[in-house]
Amino acid sequence: PDLDTPPEASDALRVLHRVFGYDSFRGSQQEIIEHVVAGGDALVLMPTGGGKSLCYQIPALVRKGVGVVVSPLIALMQDQVDALRALGVRAGFLNSTQDFDERRLVEAEFLAGELDLLYLAPERLRVESTVRLLERGTISLFAIDEAHCVAQWGHDFRPDYLALSALHERWPDVPRIALTATATEATHAEIASRLKLQDARHFVASFDRPNIQYRIVSKDDPKRQLLTLLRAEHGGDAGIVYCLSRASVEKTAEFLVKNGIEALPYHAGLDSRVRAENQARFLREDGLVMVATIAFGMGIDKPDVRFVCHLDLPKSLEGYYQETGRAGRDGMPSTAWLAYGLQDVVQQRKMIEGSEGDEAHRRRLSAHVDAMLALCETVECRRVQLLAYFGEESTKCGNCDTCLTPPESWDGTVVAQKLLSTVVRLKRERGQKFGAGQVTDILLGRKTAKVIQFDHDALSVFGIGAELREAEWRSVVRQLLAQGLIAVEGDYGTLVLTETSGEVLGGQRAVSLRREPEKKPAARTEKT
Ligand code: ADP
Ligand code: ZN
Repeated sequence: PDLDTPPEASDALRVLHRVFGYDSFRGSQQEIIEHVVAGGDALVLMPTGGGKSLCYQIPALVRKGVGVVVSPLIALMQDQVDALRALGVRAGFLNSTQDFDERRLVEAEFLAGELDLLYLAPERLRVESTVRLLERGTISLFAIDEAHCVAQWGHDFRPDYLALSALHERWPDVPRIALTATATEATHAEIASRLKLQDARHFVASFDRPNIQYRIVSKDDPKRQLLTLLRAEHGGDAGIVYCLSRASVEKTAEFLVKNGIEALPYHAGLDSRVRAENQARFLREDGLVMVATIAFGMGIDKPDVRFVCHLDLPKSLEGYYQETGRAGRDGMPSTAWLAYGLQDVVQQRKMIEGSEGDEAHRRRLSAHVDAMLALCETVECRRVQLLAYFGEESTKCGNCDTCLTPPESWDGTVVAQKLLSTVVRLKRERGQKFGAGQVTDILLGRKTAKVIQFDHDALSVFGIGAELREAEWRSVVRQLLAQGLIAVEGDYGTLVLTETSGEVLGGQRAVSLRREPEKKPAARTEKT
């Protein structure tokens, strides 16, 4: 790069210009780099795309010795190292994909002082020979990338990360910098304590990604809703579509391809070669859509991802925010679009009930779903709510669906009472369990086979809810769930009362609901 650097500029700035070819530091990069260059420990919390890599790469180049980077992203190490080598940085990696000779070569380079950066998979550090190798060289710093992987109940937990706390004991004088895009207070605290980073300085960047437009819609025919969105707003754009299951990944990718959109599947059940090839194509070619489970995406640096869509409710806001953060790293307008429905909540509750771990763990998972639900059903700015979850105060963003088309609120107290009274009536029928479908049929006065079978047409509540359409009732159920005024249980999503249901039934509590936007009837033009 032919940028002029004044002679009095710091070493860090010179490296930024000469090696990376950038004009200036972004956000708190400079502060972080200076702190680490001076030998301090750091915990860096920056959103995806914020520029975390330079925070350890530059100190590694400025300080004497080799910067050791611990990263779980084995599949990306080759690419990362190639990219650095293209800039003239002497980088190498050690992981399980290499054969003996390849490893020997990197080890020799390390010992000869011919490396600036050495990327390591965390499990390498559990191998005594690796530790001995490191002890024979000079280490400038340890960078622990994706540091939230040490958080035991987090969504990306890697047991090998727990062993990283030993780094400090073996190399007390080598600075450590832990980096993550996961933002909650609880995760920060857990990272600091598990990695023994009590004395580290914390650098917390704003997590706002103003160029990403957040939108959440209620799900009726998700594949078709997705197709409509892509055709209307994202023709020819690259993007990621997340689905919960491998089967729906396959089906959705097929559906998009049939409808003229170039899409590739990605999930852990695919052959690793196919996975690697699809990932490589997504990174290199323009305008591909990756349909994936959450197995895809960590560490992917593709600046022009124009949309991230979720066809199922994510398990937590932390996961959701990281996934959507993969859109628009280049700062250009991008879309984060989520379709969710009652069935998602039922499914998640079922998964939590059947999950391993103790009661406290299940409670935590439930709390995560509740926070997700609250975001979906809010009438306030989505971004304000998201950032608030991550401890950041902000004002109405003007670039989310609720800011752009403020949902109308209405007094749903009577409607909620009707629904809850129906649930109460059904509860009295011992042994039988009924979900939202049956409740809605009763409210609407529908004589379905199941309604007749259980004599539900004889209930006093039969037909008392004719003022709302079926979709509106479904929305009411979701909102009551989000407000904690009702709950779902078991495999069939049985509706049950909560501690606060009684306040609504007894008239001590008013319920405010958001109105479902009218669905524009869209022409059916897709192939199925
Ligand atoms: P993160 O790891 O936080 O997700 P990266 O380190 O991959 O983010 O950086 C995101 C993008 O921003 C990369 O393409 C990187 O080259 C670019 N970038 C980082 N810092 C700067 C800077 N100071 N000036 C210009 N571009 C930068
Ligand atoms: Zn907003």
